[in-house]
Amino acid sequence: MAFDVVIKNGTIVDGTGSPPVKADIGVTGDRISALGDLSSANGARTIDATGLTIAPGWIDTHAHSDGALLNDPQHANGLRQGITTEILDQDGLSYAPLSRDDYLNYRRYLAGLLGDPPEDLDMSTIASFRSHYDGVGINTVCLVPHGPLRISSVGFVDAPIRGADLDKAKALLRQGLDEGARGLATGMSYYPNAYSDTEELIELCKVVAEYGGVYVTHLRDHETDRGFGGGGVTEALEIGRQSGVKVHFSHYRTQADSAGQVDELMAEIDAAKSEGVDITLECYPYPVGSSFPMSYFSGDFHEGGADGVLERLADPAQRSKYIAMLENYSVKALAENSWSVIGPESHKHLEGMYFRDVAAERGVSVPEMICDVILETKLFCGSRGAPPHSARLWRQVEADVMALLSRDDYMIGSDAIPIGEVCHPRAFGCFPRVVGRLRRRLGYPLEQVVQRLTQNPANRFGLTDRGVLAEGKFADIVVFDADRIIDQSSFEDPRVHPAGIPYVIVNGKIAVDHEELTGVLAGKPIP
Ligand SMILES: [Zn+2]
Repeated sequence: MAFDVVIKNGTIVDGTGSPPVKADIGVTGDRISALGDLSSANGARTIDATGLTIAPGWIDTHAHSDGALLNDPQHANGLRQGITTEILDQDGLSYAPLSRDDYLNYRRYLAGLLGDPPEDLDMSTIASFRSHYDGVGINTVCLVPHGPLRISSVGFVDAPIRGADLDKAKALLRQGLDEGARGLATGMSYYPNAYSDTEELIELCKVVAEYGGVYVTHLRDHETDRGFGGGGVTEALEIGRQSGVKVHFSHYRTQADSAGQVDELMAEIDAAKSEGVDITLECYPYPVGSSFPMSYFSGDFHEGGADGVLERLADPAQRSKYIAMLENYSVKALAENSWSVIGPESHKHLEGMYFRDVAAERGVSVPEMICDVILETKLFCGSRGAPPHSARLWRQVEADVMALLSRDDYMIGSDAIPIGEVCHPRAFGCFPRVVGRLRRRLGYPLEQVVQRLTQNPANRFGLTDRGVLAEGKFADIVVFDADRIIDQSSFEDPRVHPAGIPYVIVNGKIAVDHEELTGVLAGKPIP
């Protein structure tokens, strides 16, 4: 029998959690067409995987590549890790469904997080959004993002959605789900999402539940008086209870101030699960995150999106008000952040600088500096947290992440923001850090870790023909050296690809060959 690609002499970890087995894989077209002893078979291309492990390509359940993929479809940072599918629209921050004017405004508002994709794209529907990702390096899955849903129904205003606006939002949500979205995504540190209240979210999630979709949520820490039980975990669980929707928690793990407290972290969630709320979760293996400075401000600061923010910061009286808001927020924590991405060439030198150093250089306070940089860069600025000073705390958070990943309801979402010279290292290293460095250091079974990164997310998000290696499934495959696979991106030098991942196949096409990109762009928007 002749195949397009045959991978011989490797060890298969098929994604189901079954122990590794020695077997060969044959690929025909975009599918796996045989699995077993293919020693006498021929392929147009034969890969010798002696000493290597063959697994389903990783599914990244949380990536902020929506803008980056449109400027750089190759997506080296994802492919070189072994990622073959990413779920977009995370935290409810993306581009559709939006009218042309709203797209231009929200694109500018999100620039510090998502970069600057082309202006002349049709983002009026989820279907048109999805069409822009046909022929990028990886497969993509989409969710209906809460931000655009609100902008297109009630506007960028400080009010929960009700009445006729709610009917409109529900109709747009339905249309998005009909066009292939797997659920609704929100992030309640962000706007206009945090203008919602629990009642609005329950109403929207009832629609998602009708479709068997997933409510993906970054928990509320703004406008907490609008959230049941003060927001956070309690609100998300209540939305699951009242709407019957499947709930998925974004980046839920311990951090430096809660390191080692995994049982406490999970107590409320496990209690809700035992009552029947359908819950899954994800995390990434680093002790701090990355975001954009919009998340430091609450309330009316955001009204009107980018246009509103720029107008307010240019007005001296209003600027003082928001500086005072940041002073109350937590200047000490903010001072430790650094600029990770800056758009304009005139300000590029700020990338990688601590906020406190930029403020000192300018002779202003940290809050004043933040407001000025937002205004000067027209919102094209992103930020990154600093890892804990104590390596012991850092390593404890990593141990917690791997303990969480041993639960069968966990998966990995990188939270990658693959833009900027000094981005968070997770954008280049998340998956090999888990599969290589942390699995080996902490001694978890390879087949269990692989299952969490492949079949688990495929099951949760309804990707029926992906996430496992079996005859008839799509040929999304990663071939790696289980003893050598390791991340090489760090906080000081983040844009470094990992090692020990010689081959990555997307829809049957070899996208990474001998640890080099082939230039193949075989990714599809998964229907
Ligand atoms: Zn995120």
